[in-house]
Formats: sequence, structure tokens, C-alpha cells
Amino acid sequence: MEGEGLVHATGRRPAARGQPPLVYAFNPAGAVALGFEVRPDILTMVLTDLGGTALLTRQMRLTRTDPAHVLGLMAQMADEAQTDRPRILGAGLVIPGPFGVEGLSAAGATTLPGWDPKQIPAMAAEALGMPVHLDKDATAAALAEGMGGAAQGLSSYAFLYFGSGLGLGVVSQGQPLRGGFGNAGEVGHIIITPGGLPCDCGNHGCLEQYVSRLSLQRHLVAQGLLASHTRGTDATVAALLAAGNPALSTWITTAAEALSRAIGLLENLFDPQCIILGGALPDALLDALIANLSLPEGSVSRRADRNGPRVARGTSGNRSAAMGAAALVIHDTVTPRLDAHRSMPTEMKDAPCP
Ligand SMILES: [Zn+2]
Repeated sequence: MEGEGLVHATGRRPAARGQPPLVYAFNPAGAVALGFEVRPDILTMVLTDLGGTALLTRQMRLTRTDPAHVLGLMAQMADEAQTDRPRILGAGLVIPGPFGVEGLSAAGATTLPGWDPKQIPAMAAEALGMPVHLDKDATAAALAEGMGGAAQGLSSYAFLYFGSGLGLGVVSQGQPLRGGFGNAGEVGHIIITPGGLPCDCGNHGCLEQYVSRLSLQRHLVAQGLLASHTRGTDATVAALLAAGNPALSTWITTAAEALSRAIGLLENLFDPQCIILGGALPDALLDALIANLSLPEGSVSRRADRNGPRVARGTSGNRSAAMGAAALVIHDTVTPRLDAHRSMPTEMKDAPCP
């Protein structure tokens, strides 16, 4: 890794006997990684250094989401980003879940029909000319928030990720929970209001129908406050919020009620140190949602020894999933080699190759 410029020696640690061991640190400028998030309405790319600091961010509105079209746009963005950059480790790509579930993966406006997780990594690798790691948006966003955001220093937390729908990334004892098929945390389709609003998945009363960017957009369009789902949401919401608009307040009240129930459920299921809200909703709106929560009393998270809030807003903003995608690449490049080195038995070190 030193030869590749990924780490550099920073000195020697004092030792009682023998040769003092060399101490290494990551060389943030040694390489870069690309992170892409594909949402039904927006494509986001970030380029980060090895330390996870964003060097470049690009966003592009999507009018078509078929893989061939979007992969072509990603290739263009990657070409522009790589000019005069140091070695590129690869790209992370995150998309909304769930992966490969009949009737759910292509149901409605929060999904990406045609994005088959079995085929996409190879197609993306060919389009970009580099290895591509695929993961779910909420899981990647949770990891990004743990690296440098509100979850920094926490080992067990949950991240409710607002993309177009609502996803959940759970980190438990430092490890992301992915489940058997990469679909753990598909929280948008848990029934929170039995007999409630119909959902594209076939259920009635899914959480995502009350608490998501799409649910907000539908409400504002129905109230005549937003012209279309595709444009101007953030600016409109900021203005309505500042003016104390009653129609927006109604959405916030209903959403906070559904969210409070869901948070109680998540606390009792995962025992997180904190639940963090983040992603593609304006910070001021996330703050308003948190301020309107009425958290259930019957929760394992009501502890007398708490030293932080049960719910907090994330700090990575609307590029958190793309940042997490780049972090996946760095993690996957660096960790296996560190682990391999660490786990190498002493007596094997000098053994000749068979
Ligand atoms: Zn549903």
C-alpha cells in the first residue's frame, strides 16, 4: 500500500526492545473514489479523496431512468471528474431498494425499474471502465453519516434516509446490517396506518405514503402549492416553512405522527444509540419533523443514562448516499488488505511459496 501511495510512514513508535515499529497513516491525496447515487429523479456524483473528503459534487436531473441512459450520463460525469486526478480506486453506485423483489422493486415512483442488481455492477463497470460496488442508498448513507456526520463515534445507530421514498440503514456494533439479500431496512413499506393510504406495493397505510419526499410533493401539488413533482420542491418548501404555511404544517403533523410510531418500532427492534434523519429533504423541514415528534414511552431508548437525543438530524445533506457510495469503495479497497495483513499468522510470514 505504501508503494501505491495509499499510506505513508509517519515515524516510528518507541519500543522497549528491538527495532521500533513503523507507524503508517492514510495518505488522503494518494487516490480518489467516485460515488454515484441514482434516484428516480436525480443523479448525484461525488469524487472524494481517500479520507472521504468531497473534492467535487455534480447533480443532474433525470427525465429517463433506464439503465443504458443513466450509465451513459455517469460515464460522461466520470470522464469530466477524472481530469488531472490521482489514481482512481473505483466507483460506488447506490440505488433505492429493495433488490430483486417481485412486485416491490419496480412498484411506483420511488423505484428504478430495470435496475437488476445481478446485472448492474458489470454493466456499470463496463460503462465507467473501472470496478463498481453496488449497495442500497440508505445503507451507504448510514455509513457516510458514521464517518463524518451526526453518527460519528456511535457504534449502533439507525439512519432514516429520505431519497424519493424512505429507506433505513442500520449499523449495529459498527457493522451495516444487510440481511440475506441486501434488503434489510426496507422500512418504507411497513404498514404504519392499517387501512390507510393505498401504496404502489399493494399495501394500505405504508410509512412511505406519509413520510417521504414523494408524499410531501404529492401533498403540495394537491394543495396547488407546487406545480409539478419534478421541479422546485426545495425552494417551495423553504418559502412555505418560513411563512408558516398551514397546508405544509398539516403534512408535517401527519408525517411526524407516522414517523413517531415508526421510530418507536425501530428503537425496540434495533436498540440504537440514536436514530438519524437525513437525505433529500431540506434541513429546516427535517428539523420541523423532529420538533413535532411525539415519541412513544414504551421504548428501550427511554434510558435515564442517555447522553444524547433519541432522534437527530444528519449533517451530510442531500449527497450523503453518494458520499457513502464512495466510502464503500475506499472501505473495500483498504480494509481487506489491512485485515489480511493483521490476520497473517507470524509463522507464515517467511514461509516460501508452495
Ligand atoms: Zn408500500
